[in-house]
Amino acid sequence: MELRKDPITRSWVITGDDVPDNPPRPEPFCRFCPDSREPPQLIASMSGTPGAPWSARAVVHPNALYHIEGEATRRGDGIYDRMRPIGAHEVLVENPSHDRHLWTASDLEIEQFLLLAAQRIQDLKGDGRFKYVGIYKDHGTSAGQEFEHPASQLTATTFVPRRVLYELRAAREYFQSKERCVFCDILSQEMKQDLRVIELRGDFVAMCPYAPRVPYESWIMPRTHEAAFERFGLNRGGTMRDLGALLRRTLQRIRTITEEFHLVLHTSPNSLHRSGNLGYWKTIDEDYHWHIEIMPVLASKAKSYTFKEVYYSPLSSETAVKRLRDARIEP
Ligand SMILES: [Zn+2]
Ligand SMILES: [Zn+2]
Ligand SMILES: [Zn+2]
Repeated sequence: MELRKDPITRSWVITGDDVPDNPPRPEPFCRFCPDSREPPQLIASMSGTPGAPWSARAVVHPNALYHIEGEATRRGDGIYDRMRPIGAHEVLVENPSHDRHLWTASDLEIEQFLLLAAQRIQDLKGDGRFKYVGIYKDHGTSAGQEFEHPASQLTATTFVPRRVLYELRAAREYFQSKERCVFCDILSQEMKQDLRVIELRGDFVAMCPYAPRVPYESWIMPRTHEAAFERFGLNRGGTMRDLGALLRRTLQRIRTITEEFHLVLHTSPNSLHRSGNLGYWKTIDEDYHWHIEIMPVLASKAKSYTFKEVYYSPLSSETAVKRLRDARIEP
């Protein structure tokens, strides 16, 4: 595998021919359960809730796309750029129980998982080679779920992924003209209008964005401005409990519509790289604002949206939010 840069969009892709033709056979046991016969290599573990050996833990991805050793050694190839896939690829096991998901676990368990995520991001940002550390979760066959055990994935990369790069550039431009954070402005208008807000919990808001890419797209954001998720999570004791509860309840709402979804955490890039060729980013702490995006996968639209030139969502956010708000969920 290698990384190649699209000279037009300036975004990196990972490509190569070393994926086996036949998908690996399903394993007869779960390697992420506490009693696994072949446990993956452990990176970090959160102490257990009563009766559990641990509450959440980070392990090396068994088929990692990115590898931690070496230098990325960027090379030219005519007008093109390529580099080795140096980075980190971890599985964040959300819960020791094979069947306790982010929408069924306790708020304490979800809090531990979120704190683990924050710790892993902070730790990897200490490595000057990595420009971005992101966390995502694909749930459901159409969404590309990889493991049965409740898990999210983390990647640390020597580049900033495309969607985040677009957001960073746009947020910086908005800040340059208005001297305000675009996410804070969105939040204040949404709170005032109350047309697309799903729910408030502590400092957090769950809402449907004004211009959704898919039906029932939902975002979760802190109302207090902060660019870096990990700084927020590790410095403000107790906030991750509220975030965990809101995440659980929002996923429960979405699961009344569909079981499959993509979830991604967007946070600021590694500030050790301020002098890089992206020209970033003196104002990043002021102009960017971390958030979680949830993209439900609806059966009729499965897999299609990523290939579209223009996102088409045949349901407005104002209609979506009514259904999500009124969804019957646990307290
Ligand atoms: Zn398991
Ligand atoms: Zn903000
Ligand atoms: Zn985002």
